[in-house]
Order: sequence, then structure tokens, then C-alpha cells
Amino acid sequence: MLPLETVREFVLDRCPARAPLSVPVADALGLVTASEIISSEAIPQFANTAMDGFAVRSADVVDAPCDLRVVETIAAGHAPQVTVGPGEASRIMTGATIPPGADAVVMVERTSIVTGGPASGDGATEIVRVEVSVPPGNHVRPVGDDLHAGTHVFGVGTELTAGHLGVLCSLGLTEVEVFPRPRVGVLSTGDELVDDGSPLRPGQIRDSNRRTLLALAHRADVVPVDLGLSPDDPDEIETAITTGVQTCDAIVTSGGVSMGDFDYVKAVLDRIGDMRWMQVAIKPAKPLAFGTVGDVPVFGLPGNPVSSMVSFELFARPGLRSMMGHPDPVRPTVEATAAEDLPRRADGKTHFMRVLATPTDGGVEVRSAGGQGSHMLWAMAKANALAVVPDGDGVRAGGPVDVLLLD
Ligand code: AMP
Ligand code: MG
Repeated sequence: MLPLETVREFVLDRCPARAPLSVPVADALGLVTASEIISSEAIPQFANTAMDGFAVRSADVVDAPCDLRVVETIAAGHAPQVTVGPGEASRIMTGATIPPGADAVVMVERTSIVTGGPASGDGATEIVRVEVSVPPGNHVRPVGDDLHAGTHVFGVGTELTAGHLGVLCSLGLTEVEVFPRPRVGVLSTGDELVDDGSPLRPGQIRDSNRRTLLALAHRADVVPVDLGLSPDDPDEIETAITTGVQTCDAIVTSGGVSMGDFDYVKAVLDRIGDMRWMQVAIKPAKPLAFGTVGDVPVFGLPGNPVSSMVSFELFARPGLRSMMGHPDPVRPTVEATAAEDLPRRADGKTHFMRVLATPTDGGVEVRSAGGQGSHMLWAMAKANALAVVPDGDGVRAGGPVDVLLLD
């Protein structure tokens, strides 16, 4: 059996980042930058007010309370027309440009109207009473307060989140250079599988892996492509995989890679690809077929539903993230505390136990999510984490355990 890290390294070496591409910012959520973003503009581009209130000359309000003549009302999106002179103020709304002459803003709550103004309707000169003195720059957001022109905003290898997209828009960018999403074909194999909801004949089961793996691919920010269901027939499997390779950047299959008489995925991939058959020192998901057909990585995952999910998490997801340019494609573990015994038997493998992780005052605690058989998908579905339990007799309640927090 091979150590997990050895196998994963082998996989990552064969999943290089795809050629960079410019895409609309609108399509870039979850993608990774392929070139550095340098700001061509300052944000904000003009000094503006952080509050609704009055733009004043701070020297005028040193002896507040004091009364000032209102010379203009400035809304966001409109340029000021009037310079604020001694003894004067301009009413100003959040985000509006600080007018020339003014150097500070007094929030509206610290002012009152003495005479005139929009409310009076009598055309009299409006006088505002400023109740507090404010220092220069009060509530003023200066040019470049968030970032200056020429700033190295995001480096290569940045995963674009909602906030990143907002910054790109703030900078006036409509496109961004990224590593594109791979199209990932997902194929189920097995004579026993039924996927149309029809009544099961003896020995048949329903295909759950394809939906699950397509969903995991979606969650990994790649483009899932449904390659359907193939019986345990070498010709049909070969047709499905060859077709997939022509339209996809990576392929994920489930089933047919173990030691059974009808595990034809193995035979087909041996013929058309450069494949490795590996026994990984983990449970579940010991068998893994991985290699390339042409330059398309192919992940031959085991058929047991939990095994296929764990195998996707440990090998396919990192490989696909590597193709998307993630500098750290492997999900990091966090240290948790076992809230109950997590027993196992020594067998030379690392066990990935399906657990429920909950936050506590000091960190995270985990308890079993239910049955740990590799066919017990229900417990996997309820789990939100995999506990990494090293070879031995398990973890006692209260003991430390590393966990992978799943999406
Ligand atoms: P295999 O890896 O083909 O030997 O399959 C191992 C186990 O997983 C068997 O019990 C299969 O019936 C089951 N299995 C294989 N493919 C699927 C699938 N797509 N959905 C649900 N179970 C599956
Ligand atoms: Mg099978």
C-alpha cells in the first residue's frame, strides 16, 4: 500500500494549471488569478464624506457652537459648484465630493437649522448651527484611502471571492486573467446500476455516485459534465471514456477499478491510457486508478458510494484545483477534539471517519456521524467533516484529532 501523500503528489504532478484566459469579471467567482492585478486608479478617486452632514472649514468651528451660512447642497454623484468661504458651510450627503474650501464634515446629528433652508420655504438665507468643533479631516475619506493607484492589489494565485470581484469592479475592470475552469466528465459504471427511477430488478441498485460526483465537481468550481452510465462492457466503457476525453479536460469514473471479474474500467484505461493502479493506505477508498488519456487526467474512483466521495475529496478535488491554478490545492486539516471515542482497528491505513464537527468555545469538537461502512452513504451525507484517524486503535474521548472540514 502507498502512503496517501505519495499518491497525491503523483496526481498533482500530472494535473498542471491550464493555460490562462481572460474572462468577464461576472464569470470569475471561484477562479484563480493568472496575472497580478495592479490598480490603475485610486479608490476613492476624490475626497468624499463618510457622513450626511455639513462640509465646513474646521477653523470656523473651533469655538462651537457657532452659526454658518449654508451655500450649497451636494448630493452623491454631483460635483460641488461653490467654494466654502469663511463663515460658510455646504450641506453634504454620504459619498458626495468635499467642496473646495472645506476640510471637515460635521455629522447632521450635531447640527440644527436656525433659519431658512428647504423646510422654511421662505427663501431666507439658511443658517446652520454647528454644535461641536471638529478637527481637519473629520469624516473625510481622502483620495486613495482604500488603495492608491499603482498598488499591487492581488497577486497571481488569488482565489476570487465575492469581495475580490467587488474590488475588480471598483477598479473599473471588466475582465480578469484567470486559470479557466476545467470541464470534468463524470461516468458511472456497473451492470447493476439504474438511473431512471424504474422498479429494480433482482440485484439492481440505483446510481447515486454520478449525482454526488457531479455535485462535488460543481462545489469544486469546475464545470461538471454528465457522461452518463455505462454497463460493465469494455466496448461501451471505452466509447464513453473516449468521447469524454474529446470534450472534457478531466474525467472522473466510479466503479470497476477493484479486483472483480467485471472491473473493465481498469482494462480499458490500461489499453487507451497511461494509468497507474494504486492501493492507497487509507480507509475508505483504498483502490485508485489514476493516469492520463492523451493529456487528460482520469480519476478511476472506487464504486462504493462513500469511497468514491472520499476519493474525490482526497485526490480528484486537489487535482482539479491544481488545474485551476490553486497554489494550495489540498484542503488543510484543523485540530479538533473527539467528543466521544472514535474507535478503529490497526490495519496499516489512515482512516477517514465521517464525523459531525461543531464549534466550541476553544475550537472544534467532533462525534461520529453514524455507520462507517464504505456503502453507508447516509452517514456520509450527514457528516460535515472527515476525521483523520491514524493507524492504531483510534482516538479516545477528549483526545486531539485532525479533521478535514468539508464544504
Ligand atoms: P465496484 O467498484 O464496481 O466493485 O463497486 C463497488 C460497490 O459500489 C458495489 O457494491 C457497487 O454496486 C457499488 N456501486 C458502484 N457504482 C455505483 C454507483 N454509481 N452508485 C451507487 N453504488 C455504486
Ligand atoms: Mg462494478
